Amino acid sequence: MSVRPAAGVSFPATVPVVIVGAGAAGLTAALAAREAGADVLIVERDALPAGSTALSSGLIPAAGTRWQAAKGVADSPAQFAADIMRKNRHRADPAVVAAVAANAAPTLEWLADRHGVPFDLVEGFLYSGTRACACTARRAAAAASCSIICSTQPLRAASRS
Ligand SMILES: Cc1cc2nc3c(=O)[nH]c(=O)nc-3n(C[C@H](O)[C@H](O)[C@H](O)COP(=O)(O)OP(=O)(O)OC[C@H]3O[C@@H](n4cnc5c(N)ncnc54)[C@H](O)[C@@H]3O)c2cc1C
Repeated sequence: MSVRPAAGVSFPATVPVVIVGAGAAGLTAALAAREAGADVLIVERDALPAGSTALSSGLIPAAGTRWQAAKGVADSPAQFAADIMRKNRHRADPAVVAAVAANAAPTLEWLADRHGVPFDLVEGFLYSGTRACACTARRAAAAASCSIICSTQPLRAASRS
C-alpha cells in the first residue's frame, strides 16, 4: 500500500482522529480515543466490515482476568508472555509481547465495564502448540494463559453492522 503525501491537498472536513478500518483494532481504538475526548472518524472500505474480525471465532486470550480469578485460575501476564515467546520460538520482540500480555486483561475489563461487552470464560480450549497442550498434568494455573479465553461475539457483531 502506498501512502500519498497530503501536502498541498485540501480536504472538505477535518477531524482530530481518523481511524482506517472498522475491525476490532479500529473499533477499540475509536472507543479509547473517544473516551479520551477526541472526535473520531472511522473510515471503512467495505459497505459492511468483513475483515478478519467478522470471520474470527471471537476468542481472546488474556491472562490475569477477573473471569479467571472468579473460577480460581491463577495466571499472570508474565506467564502469558512466556507462552507467547515459546510459541514463536523467541523470535518476537519481547517488549511488544510483554506489552500485549500486560494489557490484554485490562483491555477486556475496560471493554466490559465501560462499553458493556460481555465476556465469558472458555475453559479447556487450548491453542495448538502451546505449553498447555503438553502439560495438562501441571497445575491448572499453568495452562491458564493458553486455556483462558474470552468470547467477543458483540465485537464481531459490531464489526458486521
Ligand atoms: C477465520 C478466522 C478466525 C479467527 N479466530 C480468532 C480467534 O478466535 N481469536 C483471535 O484472537 N483471533 C482470531 N483470528 C484473528 C483475528 O480475527 C484478527 O487478528 C483480528 O480480527 C484483526 O483485527 P483488525 O481490526 O486488525 O483487522 P480486521 O478485522 O481485518 O479489520 C480491518 C478492517 O479494515 C478495513 N480496511 C482494509 N483496508 C482498508 C482501507 N484501505 N480503507 C478503509 N478500510 C480498510 C477492512 O475492510 C476491515 O473491516 C481469526 C481470524 C480468522 C480469519
